[in-house]
Parts: sequence; C-alpha cells; structure tokens
Amino acid sequence: MSLKGKTAVVTGSNSGIGLGIAWELARAGVDVVLNSFSDTEEDHALAREMAAETGVKVRYIKADLSKGDEARALIEQAGKCDILVNNAGIQHVAPIDKFPVEKWDAIIAINMTSAFHTTAAALPMMRKAGWGRVVNIASAHGLTASPFKSAYVTAKHGIVGMSKVVALETAREPITCNAICPGYVLTPLVEAQIPDTMKEYDMDREEVIEKVLLERQPSKEFTTVEQLGGTVLFLCSPAADQITGTTISVDGGWTAM
Ligand code: NAD
Repeated sequence: MSLKGKTAVVTGSNSGIGLGIAWELARAGVDVVLNSFSDTEEDHALAREMAAETGVKVRYIKADLSKGDEARALIEQAGKCDILVNNAGIQHVAPIDKFPVEKWDAIIAINMTSAFHTTAAALPMMRKAGWGRVVNIASAHGLTASPFKSAYVTAKHGIVGMSKVVALETAREPITCNAICPGYVLTPLVEAQIPDTMKEYDMDREEVIEKVLLERQPSKEFTTVEQLGGTVLFLCSPAADQITGTTISVDGGWTAM
C-alpha cells in the first residue's frame, strides 16, 4: 500500500528524532506537518527544504505542547492527520528530592499529556478517513528506569500505558496505536546531558559516551534517527495491521538485559 496522499503530524520535529522520522515519512510520499514551540525562519526553511527534496507537501505549524489547547489546535490546523507521531520531549536529571517542580510539570505535560490531547483531536479525523496510525515515541525508559530521571521515566511509562488504552479503544477499527522505545540516539537532547555527566564522573566525552550513555546498550552503538523513521514506516505498512497496543524496542539490546 502506498502512503502517498496521507498526512503525518510529527510533534517536536524541528530537531533530532522527530525531524529524522519526518524525513523518512516525506521520502515515502507522506505529506508532513512539522512542529515545535518556536516560529523561526529556520523552522519554515526546513519545511521548504523537505518539500523541495521529496516532492511532498510540508508545513510547519507552531504549537507549544506544554499547553493542551495548543496541542489540540495543532491537529485542527493540520486539518488532516492519518499518521500521528507523538515525539516531542524534554529531559531533566536530578534526584527526586531535589527535582524542580516546574521541570516535573513541564516533562509530564510535554512528554505525556500532549499525546493525550493530540490523540483525542486526531482520532475523529482517522475514523473519518477510515485508516490511522498513532505512534508514540516512548523510550527504553518507558520499560525500565534509571536514577535521577523520575519525571521522564514516569512520563514514558505513562505513554506506554496510554498506547495500550488507545489500541483497545480502536481495536475494531483500521487504526493502530503503538509505542516505539528507542535506546540512546545522539540528538541534541542527549548531547545536552554530556557536559554535566563529564563533570559529575570526571570523564572526557568519549568515556561518558562509552561508559555512561552506552553502558546499558549492549550493541555499544547509538540508535539512529533513520532506524526510527524506518520503524514508523513499518508500523504504517500492511504488515503491521495487526500490531497494536504494544512496544517496539529499538535499543541495541538494552531491555534484554
Ligand atoms: P531533541 O531535543 O532533539 O528534540 C525534541 C523536540 O521536541 C524538538 O523538536 C523540540 O523543539 C520539541 N519540543 C520540546 N519542547 C516542546 C514544546 N513545549 N512544544 C513543542 N515541541 C517541543 O530530542 P530527541 O532526542 O530527538 O527526542 C525526541 C523524542 O525521543 C523525545 O520524546 C525523547 O524523550 C525521545 N527519546 C530520545 C532518546 C535519545 O536518546 N535521544 C531516546 C529515547 C527516546
């Protein structure tokens, strides 16, 4: 089945994994809505570049996904949403007794609650179109935990649970909902953790990558954004019609341990 003519909304897609997934969808002929909370010339230039290179329609729509009404407005402005990739996410690392309340609230809102709002807004569009895919970008931290990541691990476990509920509520329809659980991917979100970790463990960059970041990733390789884009495409293919309410780990063996 060709995905040509379908529209995907990828949240948090002016960077990292979301951008990589958006590129793979566009290359497969899917019209794409890019999103972030900013509204810069670079954001719109990214949309023009993707459209020029792939020949599909690409729009950039600003929405701050820490706000429920903006998350719903993103889907409404998109007008059509056959494939919803809930990807936007942030991170903060601190022991739970020192975890800043505003960081906790922001992580829960952006990494978890935004997917409730976008899914609620997108499902009627999918039902009308007679086909739909909800793909939630969770994490290995949706299945396991690490110290100092209380909000992130809570939000990611939450989105895995939400994926199961949406799958059950749509089980009799040609709509599926799944969560992809990546291991470490070298994106700006992970880059930002490296300097503090270097200080904390008195290590250089290479040591942090090998001994801290990839410590639990047995392949000792980062997952790539292309691999995650390919996994989203697989979930959009007829081979995945009966795959719903589950998680797909793309983590180099992390959760096998
Ligand atoms: P990133 O920082 O490169 O991208 C995050 C995206 O979310 C950006 O486009 C950013 O603009 C957007 N975003 C942040 N706050 C937002 C808000 N309030 N409203 C709208 N958009 C907002 O990070 P990434 O590594 O590409 O992460 C993407 C997703 O993948 C996240 O959900 C993250 O938890 C998950 N993930 C990342 C890794 C990894 O190792 N990088 C591993 C597993 C899961």
